[in-house]
Amino acid sequence: MRILLLFSFIALGNSGHLMAQSLCGQTAYLTYLEMLYPGFNEMAENTFFTALRESKIKTKKRQDTVFKVNVVFHIVYNNAQQNIDDSLVYSQLRVINDAFRRTNADTINTRDIFKPFAADAGIEFVMATQDPDGNPSNGIIRKETFRGTFGSNPTSLSAADLVKNGNVGSAPWDTDKYLNIWICDLSISGVDALLGYAYPPTGSANWTGNNSFASSERQGVVCHYKVVGENNPSSLATGSKTMVHEVGHYLGLRHIWGDGGCAVDDFMDDTPLARRASNGCNKGVNTCNEIIGGQFPDMLENYMDYSNEVCQNLFTNDQVAQMRTNMWMFRRGIYEEQIPLPEVIDAVLDETGVYPNPVVEGKLTIYLNSVDANATYDMTLYNLLGQPIFVWNLEAVPNQQIIGFLGLQGAYIYKIRQDGEQITTGKLLIGQ
Ligand SMILES: [Zn+2]
Repeated sequence: MRILLLFSFIALGNSGHLMAQSLCGQTAYLTYLEMLYPGFNEMAENTFFTALRESKIKTKKRQDTVFKVNVVFHIVYNNAQQNIDDSLVYSQLRVINDAFRRTNADTINTRDIFKPFAADAGIEFVMATQDPDGNPSNGIIRKETFRGTFGSNPTSLSAADLVKNGNVGSAPWDTDKYLNIWICDLSISGVDALLGYAYPPTGSANWTGNNSFASSERQGVVCHYKVVGENNPSSLATGSKTMVHEVGHYLGLRHIWGDGGCAVDDFMDDTPLARRASNGCNKGVNTCNEIIGGQFPDMLENYMDYSNEVCQNLFTNDQVAQMRTNMWMFRRGIYEEQIPLPEVIDAVLDETGVYPNPVVEGKLTIYLNSVDANATYDMTLYNLLGQPIFVWNLEAVPNQQIIGFLGLQGAYIYKIRQDGEQITTGKLLIGQ
């Protein structure tokens, strides 16, 4: 859970820093869950260490498989501002996918000393194309609520978690099959103090669905609507990595300083010890001496730190192993291992069209026949509900390649236009 450093700053009379710094209060949510389900924390700890042990043993043979996670977004709103546009959701999805595939442009900012530790998690997040009953869906649910905010003063996670209640907010889709992400107002007394929180993996051989820990209706991620997507009109200027951080918690990661001093670790061997959360983007800070190995500065590039989000650009190898192990041990139903794609026939088209189809590796080549160099061309991708998802402005050249399909799977419709007039349309398959 991320909470802005609200109360301390108010106490210091220094609210000017409020919007620049965010904090996570994951422990507050765990405390709340422990209150609801006594013994919860012990179970979550056992789960964490079980995954940690397994990650050392088995991950290597699984590291090449891409896990595709079906995601459903619940936008729970009380007014138009909270009812954020689809484009912000898609933009957020791209940020998450870039982070978990390490395809984000700002990986160039990873310091050399940390580059050997930075890893591609091999996890992709795709919009659900079917609801639990098999009906077509675009993966976005909109639900109006009578509640102005799900934040409360004093901070209460029981109030926030009402967003997952079908009578007040939006009931989850089967949390064993979908990653549910709720987007709502989490402001507290008009202040953006709570940015998000996530439910950690829990489960073990002796934890069945029949005991008091079974809380499937709560599993998922909740984010404040102001931190979703790039160029969010309500942006808190913290970047759009809050959800990356929360999905990290959902997949079992801890904060890299272990929520304690130098003697408390996050149990990831490749995240340096840190005395506390980073603040800002000061790359010169080293708050702890490493016990073994060389000395490293604090890793403020890590998504699981509290550094400014513009400085965050990596997960480490051990974090990746932990998340992937948690997935195949405790969240097995929410992903599909990527099915090998059919062999690509490098087709040569003689009329305007696209290839390969299905799209391979997120790239698509577009062939335009009889190009008019003075014309404007674009291509729009629609889901099967007829809703536009992306528009690409095309070059007036015969062959060009476009990218940007991460997060999409299944069947779509494309339309290519010349000067606003449709010149061709067809079905486009992605990742199937
Ligand atoms: Zn956190």
